[in-house]
Amino acid sequence: MKRTCFPLLLLAAFLMNNFAQSPAQLAEIWDKEHVTNKFPSNVRHSDLKAYLDGLKKLGIKVDEVGRSNANREIYQVEWGKGPKRVFLWSQMHGDEPTATSALIDMFTVLQKNRGKDWVKKLESELTIRAVPMLNPDGAELYIRRNMQGIDINRDAVDLKTPEARLLKSLRDAWQPELGFNLHNQNELTTVGGTAQQAAISLLVVHGDEAKTDSEGHVRNKRIVTLMAEALRQFMPGHLGRYDDGWSPTAFGDNFSAWGTPTILIETGALHGKDEMFLVKMNFIAILTALRSFADGSEKSADPARYFEIPNNSSGSLLHIVFRNANVIEKETGIVTVADLGLVFDRRREQFISPTTIRRMGALTTVAGLAEYDASGFNVIGRMLPVKQGNPGELLFFKKDRIIDWTAADLEKVNTPDAVFSFGKWHKGEGVVPLKK
Ligand SMILES: [Zn+2]
Repeated sequence: MKRTCFPLLLLAAFLMNNFAQSPAQLAEIWDKEHVTNKFPSNVRHSDLKAYLDGLKKLGIKVDEVGRSNANREIYQVEWGKGPKRVFLWSQMHGDEPTATSALIDMFTVLQKNRGKDWVKKLESELTIRAVPMLNPDGAELYIRRNMQGIDINRDAVDLKTPEARLLKSLRDAWQPELGFNLHNQNELTTVGGTAQQAAISLLVVHGDEAKTDSEGHVRNKRIVTLMAEALRQFMPGHLGRYDDGWSPTAFGDNFSAWGTPTILIETGALHGKDEMFLVKMNFIAILTALRSFADGSEKSADPARYFEIPNNSSGSLLHIVFRNANVIEKETGIVTVADLGLVFDRRREQFISPTTIRRMGALTTVAGLAEYDASGFNVIGRMLPVKQGNPGELLFFKKDRIIDWTAADLEKVNTPDAVFSFGKWHKGEGVVPLKK
């Protein structure tokens, strides 16, 4: 009996260490201690500066390291005293904001918990540098590109933008061993062949077209395996592996080629959850990765399990589908029975969502995040005909009503039973029944 006790104790100690700051505990810490208080899409450069002032007040090193094309400050945050160098950057695409807030929360939590063993380990093993909001001009306008109209993530070789030159110089001067490239993907990205949203997608970015595995890339596969395990606990079925195509002018690929094997995190959306949930997921994923890199626990992960993460796909999901609508052609009154599939434009949370009719017809292979049974209704366009590519501005009339479809001021002459406008029910919510 005694002989088995010692290994059992060792195993218990190992498990305790291994599961210290489990994903559930990280989630709890974020719930209690996160400081970002705006939806990331609403965060402007001035908000970032306020967040960074908060970090400075906690004693964290924050430096202006450069300026954007329109002369906005770009900052780098540094934390930790360890030999392993980790570099992260977010929002090089201005309308991809989630991770910027996650980084602020992460540095805050690390600094405030320096007395805790797991944080001491991070502090003594790692030096973490991060550039939150590399593209402040794009963030201000909520657009992908910088002020020159250039996609910074296609400028790693040409270096025509000040933001790209800065990013490369920060890497070259410091030679980090591990990189994180933090983005947002389309909300309608799906997992594998399913209609499940990919709330987050991960990728080990290689440095060449042949996807040659260096030790750093295999290490990153092990780390991503652990990130995936952590995320699955909160969003089962909603994790994808990002497209592994080689982009010779992109930063992730070139960081990996220059000697900083990089992990890509692409945040999508999860129907029914708000943007702060995704900030929390980023926080958990990044800290899971950093902890495993700091304490060496990544070494026991199986890199082959990386390939168990299903590939992303697209095209099978739309924001809204109206099933079996009687679509009315205004001039002729001709009725066509069709499903209508609508998509929302990417926009700040505080702004209304223009919508577009993306698909029309028998949409049997497509699902909507929300689906309505429109079979009891005649549907006509509010301003423009119901047609692919036109705005998703729709008037709904119960089928049994007699309507003069040719009336010049249709909406005034015949009060619609429901109006769908700018992505929501402007009138008559609940009249057209929800299918799911
Ligand atoms: Zn992006």
